[in-house]
Amino acid sequence: MSGVAVSSGLLRRLLLFILLFSLCFTLLAGAVQLYFEYRREMRDIETRLELIRTGYLASFERSLWDLNQEQLNVQLRGLVDFPDIARARLRSADFDLVQGAEQPPGPLRLERFPLSYQPPQGEARHLGELEIGIDLGAVYRRLYSTGLTSLLWMGVFLCGLAVALSWLFHRLVTRHLRVMADFARRIAVGDWHEALRLDKQAGTRADEIDTVAHALDDMRRAILSDIQRREADRLALQDKRDELQKRVERRTASLRRAKEEAEAANLAKSRFLATMSHELRTPLNGILGMAELLRGAALDERERARLEALYKAGEGLLAILDEVLYFARLEEGESRPELVDFSLPQLVDQVLTLLEPRAQANRTELQCRFDPQVQERCRGAEQFLRQVLSNLLANAIKFTEAGEVSVAVRLLAQEPGGQRLRISVTDNGIGIPLALQGKIFERFTQASDEVARRYGGTGLGLAISKRLVELLGGRIGVESREGEGSCFWFELSLARAQRSAAVVAAAPPGRALDILVVEDVALNREVVSGLLEREGHRVSLAEDAEPALALCRAQRFDLILLDVHLPGLSGVELCRLIRGGAAGVNTDTRILALTASVQPALVRGYLDAGMQGVLAKPLKLENLRRALAGLDSAQPPAAAVELVDWQLLQTHRTLLGEQKLMGLLELLRDMLAQHRAALLEALGAGDCAEVAQLAHRLAGSSDSLGFRALAASLRQLEETALAGNAQALHELQPELQGVLQRSQDALLGLLQASA
Ligand code: ADP
Repeated sequence: MSGVAVSSGLLRRLLLFILLFSLCFTLLAGAVQLYFEYRREMRDIETRLELIRTGYLASFERSLWDLNQEQLNVQLRGLVDFPDIARARLRSADFDLVQGAEQPPGPLRLERFPLSYQPPQGEARHLGELEIGIDLGAVYRRLYSTGLTSLLWMGVFLCGLAVALSWLFHRLVTRHLRVMADFARRIAVGDWHEALRLDKQAGTRADEIDTVAHALDDMRRAILSDIQRREADRLALQDKRDELQKRVERRTASLRRAKEEAEAANLAKSRFLATMSHELRTPLNGILGMAELLRGAALDERERARLEALYKAGEGLLAILDEVLYFARLEEGESRPELVDFSLPQLVDQVLTLLEPRAQANRTELQCRFDPQVQERCRGAEQFLRQVLSNLLANAIKFTEAGEVSVAVRLLAQEPGGQRLRISVTDNGIGIPLALQGKIFERFTQASDEVARRYGGTGLGLAISKRLVELLGGRIGVESREGEGSCFWFELSLARAQRSAAVVAAAPPGRALDILVVEDVALNREVVSGLLEREGHRVSLAEDAEPALALCRAQRFDLILLDVHLPGLSGVELCRLIRGGAAGVNTDTRILALTASVQPALVRGYLDAGMQGVLAKPLKLENLRRALAGLDSAQPPAAAVELVDWQLLQTHRTLLGEQKLMGLLELLRDMLAQHRAALLEALGAGDCAEVAQLAHRLAGSSDSLGFRALAASLRQLEETALAGNAQALHELQPELQGVLQRSQDALLGLLQASA
């Protein structure tokens, strides 16, 4: 478009210029020609006048002298016949003769010739005057027509010239310009492949247009080659990038494989260690159990000392296994911090008390400095803290002979909702070389072989401590000098406690029970049965599921202890069978898992299968006693429901922690106190809807915390109320009051025991 506009604009302008120029030229040339024409005409007139002067005047003078009027008229007419002479007039004293037009229309040039006669003698005499009127109008008309004609011809010629020039210009320039403009436009839209071709005859000599065209085509070729080069570069680059990407992917994949392999290997190692530890634990459990049994036997002093040594060694081994197992569990991410309210000084005190004997054996003095600014009751992962502090303190005592070990708890900063603390354990024992201080927090790392040989240990304690502190969002470190002592410290934030203090409730005393123990390892069977029998219970033993089921069908038991890992049917499956009715009379007998696998997820599985709780291996007498306490003298007649489900409480204690359990019990106590009056009032008034609603709420809470009798009584109440039986409701009141009172007493007892 613009190319067309350019060329047509150029053409138009060129045409306009040519026309303007031609017009000026024509006008100028016309004017010059007219001027010369005019000069020529004037010259002709002058010549004619001269001719009249020289040729005619003498004959006029003679005729006038002769007074020959006729002759004069003839002569005058002869003058008028001259071209452009419009009038000839002769004036004398005798005549006034005129020939030609009296008053010619156009402008006239009057020329007067005096007429005189020279007689042969005497003076010349003036005779008259000849007046010639020259018709300038005719001259002008002629000039006009000549000018017009030449102007016309010139105009035609110049117009033709302009058209011819324009055509030529178009042929030579503008049409090529248009092609070049189109070509440039094609280049602009990316059509670089078509060469520029002008519509010219071959063989004509190259002109400026050709030069421009060549330059344009050269430019196209340059662009094309540049683009091709860039494209090639791009492709090469892309190739390189793809190759690089592939290499990165290959490398990433191989790294991922390596990482997965490493992780799998690590996990396999941890699992292997855990399995090994677990496998070792079972026989060790038997050994320790046997030793525990032997403790009750009559032994002399030496034998007792040996037994104690055996027991100690077994316990040491168990501690190591526990550590390995614990670390494996930490590695698999199974241990999560469980937040409870606790007393920090009490915790420190307990750890110190626990390790006091070791310190005494090492002749090491224990000290404790507790910053008075640190608030005593905190909320946090008490278990983790206890573990870390125990590890650090045990190490400090282990590596310090006849020295001093001190624990310090210092306030670092007050924080919203809690405090940031630094707990340090300082000793003046053997110390740690600087180069090793960074490494000892890695698992299975000990300062030196010599230390390992002399002091034993697994090299896991600090690794576990580090993990635990980091899980709590804190940091751990050491400052030490070889031969001078060490200071292990950790910093973390602890929140303020939410509730007031509470401690473990004492377990109620036991009574003789019928107990079935299902355990495949003979040694363990011996241990458990020995312990139970020593407590005065009647024990039946089964190796695996089949004899267990047979025994269950034959007799009703008060309690069944099920090893979880049985050959064939597992303990969990056996429990399901018993609950499903396969064991006849024992469908609702209390069943506890006997296992070393007490991770929360597994425990939940046991409970889901229908067990009431877990007894952790290795079996400790006090734990066994505590578990059995739920089946003590309060055991109701077979049809009735027991007051408190001790197993459930025990399970809660294991899963929730003591503090949380106590908190929940406090909640139940408050709820009962709050709603008791309302419930009894509604009962008295026979308000079925109110009774049903209150009974429903209280029953749920009582049930969850193991207050079975109360829950059963409340559910019965709820059903009766829903049935709208006001009379029956009234009859239920005394029983409910009794159960309510006993449950509240039991609750109070539990809470007071822990206060
Ligand atoms: P373990 O004590 O079971 O060997 P730890 O992880 O608890 O494993 O400790 C790793 C190593 O760190 C120890 O073997 C010992 O060399 C060094 N160590 C730890 N605590 C102290 C301490 N208080 N004094 C000197 N060395 C210590």
